[in-house]
Amino acid sequence: LEWAAAVDAIRALGPDDEVQLICHVNPDGDALGSMLGFALGLRRLGLTRLRATFPGDFDVPEPYKGLPGSDLLVPEHEAYRAPALVLIFDVAAESRLGALVELLPVAPVVIVLDHHASNTGFGGINLVAPRAAATSVVAEALLTRLGVPLDAEIAECLYVALSTDTGSFKFDLTTPEVHELAARLIATGISPAEISRRIFDTRPFGAMKLSGEVLGRARLDAGAAGGRGLVWTWATQADLERHAQKPYVLESLIDPVRSVAEADVAVLVKEMKAGEWAVSLRSKGAVDVSKVAVALGGGGHRLAAGFTGHGSPEEVVQQVKDLLEGALTQ
Ligand code: 5GP
Ligand code: MN
Ligand code: MN
Repeated sequence: LEWAAAVDAIRALGPDDEVQLICHVNPDGDALGSMLGFALGLRRLGLTRLRATFPGDFDVPEPYKGLPGSDLLVPEHEAYRAPALVLIFDVAAESRLGALVELLPVAPVVIVLDHHASNTGFGGINLVAPRAAATSVVAEALLTRLGVPLDAEIAECLYVALSTDTGSFKFDLTTPEVHELAARLIATGISPAEISRRIFDTRPFGAMKLSGEVLGRARLDAGAAGGRGLVWTWATQADLERHAQKPYVLESLIDPVRSVAEADVAVLVKEMKAGEWAVSLRSKGAVDVSKVAVALGGGGHRLAAGFTGHGSPEEVVQQVKDLLEGALTQ
């Protein structure tokens, strides 16, 4: 990885140079946590003009609202117009940057920190580690190379990022190094129990009722995916409205779906706007769902990937089934 180039570019900045940090649309714990943790590290280096943002509505999911460094968050229209440096977190492709993609050609330096195997290499300096469990692993490694010590605020952000992207240290890529990093983060004095309760175990009553409905309508097709079984369900805008919930409450709903024993592949189809669906794909191991996602214009990892679908939920899932039964994943 181009560590030296990234370190040199950051060390070359003066305290008044503008730095714009960006993460992906519909930000998750890794996107926000790695971005804000790194931003706090830059602040410790004496940089004063720091802004962090993400494309789309300026609607930080409830669980991430109190993260340290949130004072640096601005809506996308308040992003610096001509920053000296752009840093991009957890973004595999320019399509995940929305209108903020316009900053790339104007910034003299663009550094991408990511861990998606499908990353297209769209940055000027690409720190992409496909074997890393989270972008926060890359962010911490760069902070170390910059000589920024971990403190409790940085650690809280990075811990949120690490624990969300590893499914609380359960998923593939939960290596000894991941636990070593977690240990160093916890050693700063943060409380994993308090953070986990806030991030994973605090949801409105309506979210539970909504989950019940969405899970209750799930369908199991035991013959799909080359006989490996596929389980899927969907959630509409109307579902969210009926229970007065925001889309973030659906983020972890793929987890109970993927736990179904009779299926190797799980699909959750979430309506973003009329006829447009954010599709989450999960595999237990036999199938590389990132290939399916990439074939349908998205991306992700071998066991967790996603894409934007169109039409009805049935049509979206049929596209997935067709690819799973075709040559792609055999
Ligand atoms: P999730 O299902 O949790 O939203 O996403 C799972 C993984 O797939 C994440 O690593 C995420 O970055 C990736 N992913 C989800 N949706 C998309 C998409 O529309 N485009 C791309 N390129 N990646 C996606
Ligand atoms: Mn992410
Ligand atoms: Mn990630």
